[in-house]
Amino acid sequence: MSTPHGVAGCSCCHPWGVEASHITIPTDLLPADGRFGCGPSKVRAEQIDAVASLGRSVMGTSHRQAPVKNIVASVRSGLSELFGLPDGWEIVLGNGGSTVFWDVATFGLIRERSQHLVFGEFSSKFAEAAASAPHLGQPEVIRCEPGDHPDPIAAMGIDVYALTHNETSTGVAMDLRRPQGADADALVVVDATSAAGGLAWRPSDVDVYYFAPQKSFASDGGLWLAACSPEALDRINELTDGRRWCPASLDLGIAVSNSTQQQTYNTPALATLIMLDNQVNWMLHNGGAAWVAERVARSSSTVYDWATTREWATPFVSDPSKRSKVVATIDLDDAIPAGDVCAALRANGVVDTDSYRKLGRNQLRIGMFPAVDPDDLAALTGCIDYVVEALAS
Ligand SMILES: *Cc1c(COP(=O)(O)O)cnc(C)c1O
Repeated sequence: MSTPHGVAGCSCCHPWGVEASHITIPTDLLPADGRFGCGPSKVRAEQIDAVASLGRSVMGTSHRQAPVKNIVASVRSGLSELFGLPDGWEIVLGNGGSTVFWDVATFGLIRERSQHLVFGEFSSKFAEAAASAPHLGQPEVIRCEPGDHPDPIAAMGIDVYALTHNETSTGVAMDLRRPQGADADALVVVDATSAAGGLAWRPSDVDVYYFAPQKSFASDGGLWLAACSPEALDRINELTDGRRWCPASLDLGIAVSNSTQQQTYNTPALATLIMLDNQVNWMLHNGGAAWVAERVARSSSTVYDWATTREWATPFVSDPSKRSKVVATIDLDDAIPAGDVCAALRANGVVDTDSYRKLGRNQLRIGMFPAVDPDDLAALTGCIDYVVEALAS
């Protein structure tokens, strides 16, 4: 059998077929932009241009002065508008990303005992952070198999219900609702790292909606942001009054007072803020949350409809209502190693379609965040078809 290099027994080609990285996808099938990762994810060229255009005026200047504070103010007001936050809510921000926010929450949001819905890697980590905090009671953990999500169960003494809007490791999204019958001052605290800016939610169902900007907001990592209800702000006040020891860098009270002054407690990455601000304004100028919802609905139906009509592909999440509109997980037939498909795509500049490592499935995972052009997702499905056919030949 001839190999792509035309030499029988070519050492870099499988003797029985095609080495994945040697497949050349015809140019007319390729997407205009080949970044389909689930975070960090595609950054639009205009966001990079925004950093460049502020390269001499804002980059390299003090975050305690107006030029940077104005960008923080714009991020905070833009996010409030995008989310439709009622009066009394605040956008709070600090350094460290969502992972650090879990530790922040163990000091400044959980009073005594939290309940966690664990249905993937990310949701399990907040539960672990709460379980190992010596000043908290043991959390209640409700689990289910990956590919589904459990629902919160109201229980006396639970003061934080920890939900995850979009479990990025499995592609499961959940509707956010307050558990009926929960204690009157219990807070609903939502990890929205990959959902915020992509999936719809109602502030009346949530108290804290936290995220980092490298997913739907197409910026870089390292920052956490949290939309906080008046009830959440009361809780933060109560828990950061000095009675409970808290490292200053994790102190939500300090973060709130800095945020309302349009700054962070310590130095933030300015480029991250500029790119985030550009993305929020891009969403608002195009029509805000409704426009985003329409865009991710179009992108995700392209991908799921395609997967459903291929004999060798199946959406991993069996309940269509739980399939994420921003992260698609697509199982492949065992005869088609997903690693080979990803390698062939990567060799053609189409990157980061790999499944979440620890899930251990023969799967593709595709970021469909608002920055990703719906037409590029259609092109991606064409590229996968091409690669699968080439691998089989
Ligand atoms: C990516 C992600 C995180 C981790 O975010 P970092 O900013 O890297 O800490 C947490 N939760 C979810 C749901 C995520 O998708």
